[in-house]
Amino acid sequence: MRIANLNGRAQLVGPAGGLDVHNASGDRFGPSLPALYEDWDAFRLWAATAPEAAASPVLEPFEPFDPAACGPPSPAPRQVFAVALNYRDHAAESGVAPPSDPLIFAKYVSAFSGPVSEVVLPPGHVDWECELVVVMAHSARHISPAEAWTHVAGLTVGQDLSERILQRSGPAPQFGLAKSHPGFAPSGPVLVSPEEFDDPDDLALGCEVNGQTMQSARTSHMIFPVAELIAYLSSVVTLLPGDVIFTGTPPGVGAGRNPPVFLAPGDELRSWIEGIGELHQRFVAA
Ligand code: ZN
Repeated sequence: MRIANLNGRAQLVGPAGGLDVHNASGDRFGPSLPALYEDWDAFRLWAATAPEAAASPVLEPFEPFDPAACGPPSPAPRQVFAVALNYRDHAAESGVAPPSDPLIFAKYVSAFSGPVSEVVLPPGHVDWECELVVVMAHSARHISPAEAWTHVAGLTVGQDLSERILQRSGPAPQFGLAKSHPGFAPSGPVLVSPEEFDDPDDLALGCEVNGQTMQSARTSHMIFPVAELIAYLSSVVTLLPGDVIFTGTPPGVGAGRNPPVFLAPGDELRSWIEGIGELHQRFVAA
């Protein structure tokens, strides 16, 4: 199942476009994406059996839509977790040892945007981090790795845009602020449920700046895969429906290059994950 957030309304996405969930379900589900996450299991059952949705997109009422009109698949999560140094080669390019437990920080939801956006560059060194993003389906506490995927609504593409000067300033660096300027957390274009993938733990991902590939890796290279991240987080906090997890970035960030490279006005950033889709960000001067 693939869903999208079109102008705040949940769309079931098929080959021919989107089906408005609220209308097609006789007002039972939606209309917003957060409402779906609150009733995820019932929604999934409906989506799997809705004849218009599952079986016969050619009969309409799927309508083509523009990804640029989409918002984030989970636009108002109560909690947004992000993972630092979750790929060995990214830890190496950052000059630090791989962590022995997941390193968690927060991003703030005011930084969220849809998959196609223009980002105003704040002062400093703004860098890219293409990441697999997980959206949770249920309230969850003390989840074992073996059951973790059953609590995942789906996967989407994210960018954990980061201003490196503030990120590293102070005696105890404060990642959250430096990664939460407006527009610093785009995601989309669709949320893809785990069963759509042959192996949701092994997806190609990457990004390019102005057509030059900067990151190219596979999510199977994560130090702590999705199930272990969920188990770890849920050992401490209660995860809530619609919660978002940025799972960490592979190597190839600008700060890890020699010399370092950062985003400039006019730059175009394209990020992708196999089986999900692409983000497109254009950067402009303040
Ligand atoms: Zn990151």
